[in-house]
Amino acid sequence: MQDFEYQANPARVVFGKGSIRKVPEELLRLGLTKPLILCTPQQTLQAEDLRKILDGEVTVAGVFDNATMHTPVDVTDSALKVVKESGCDSVVSIGGGSTIGLGKALSFRTGLYHLCIPTTYAGSEVTPILGETQEGRKTTYSDPKIFPGTVVYDVDLTMTLPAGLSATSGVNAIAHAVEALYARNGNPVINLLAVEGVRALAEALPQIVQDSNTAGPRARAQYGAWLCGTCLGSVGMSLHHKLCHTLGGSFNLPHAETHTIMLPHVVAYNAPNIPETLALLAQALPESDGDAIRGLNVLLQKLGIKRDLKSFGLKEEDISQAADIAVSNPYWNPREVKRASIEELIRRAWAGEEARADL
Ligand code: NAD
Repeated sequence: MQDFEYQANPARVVFGKGSIRKVPEELLRLGLTKPLILCTPQQTLQAEDLRKILDGEVTVAGVFDNATMHTPVDVTDSALKVVKESGCDSVVSIGGGSTIGLGKALSFRTGLYHLCIPTTYAGSEVTPILGETQEGRKTTYSDPKIFPGTVVYDVDLTMTLPAGLSATSGVNAIAHAVEALYARNGNPVINLLAVEGVRALAEALPQIVQDSNTAGPRARAQYGAWLCGTCLGSVGMSLHHKLCHTLGGSFNLPHAETHTIMLPHVVAYNAPNIPETLALLAQALPESDGDAIRGLNVLLQKLGIKRDLKSFGLKEEDISQAADIAVSNPYWNPREVKRASIEELIRRAWAGEEARADL
């Protein structure tokens, strides 16, 4: 057995159907009585439902409903004004990674307690990571103070997540687990979470795509997302996350879709150096026939996800620049990151070709 270090991260998780009704007692047990609710413009109805649950039990300081993808600093600045004017004593983010990102940015700057109610499978709620954008550049940093304090997983809030976004968001979570399995600072505990997380999501996502009104698979996907998010929050990420940050931050490609398209290509690229990860993944992915890359390709096919970056706005002439950015300041990776291979990898993803382990 190899030596390892393991750092458990603090998190209080309340999981269950209808658990949004426990948010007042979760705040009161910490002496918090004046929360500010955060959401996107698309999720104001869910924020209003939360306000009704909280009203009377605590005093809602207000609703800030302009959370935006990639956490732009100017949005955080306007939310900070609301924080100061309202005199809130905590922030409650209800939404996906974008809303939780805003909650993290506010909590990090002010020290306010942050309770999260995730409604996608992105996993940000259990990580100390914050990516912020300013003047077209996304900067990602990590600090234990960024960790949200409490996470309330209520499957009811995910029922409105469209099937397509459920699928890509779920594969985004799988990508966290995959990179955790070959992380330089990986450990056996995180490997357990990663394999279990991939297994839960790989089972649940095709069922959700077939029938998005089904609470059982959605709860299982949420469980998988929590485990995979915990992996992201515990160990270092590699080439896959570097490529996705490049494509999202510099070419404005959508977060979950980009993760989904890139994942099989990166696993195929790293394949020669990650035999143990491939074996574990092959066990966790149905219909892999012992081949993890095949398992990922089959999963994406079943989910009916678009496989080409060009559909999401990447231009052929951007490929070379994307490769340049992706290989500059690279994250540690199990295989040497070669510029020419990365350009060809991005080209394949741009064109929507199946992943092949021949680079
Ligand atoms: P998102 O939060 O941007 O949500 C996408 C859209 O779906 C939004 O309009 C949102 O309002 C809507 N939506 C969310 N849940 C819904 C629901 N249940 N029903 C109906 N609509 C719903 O998407 P995301 O993929 O969760 O988050 C992406 C962002 O999160 C990116 O900025 C990414 O960088 C960040 N992220 C950060 C981490 C981290 O650890 N820091 C991890 C994952 C993602």
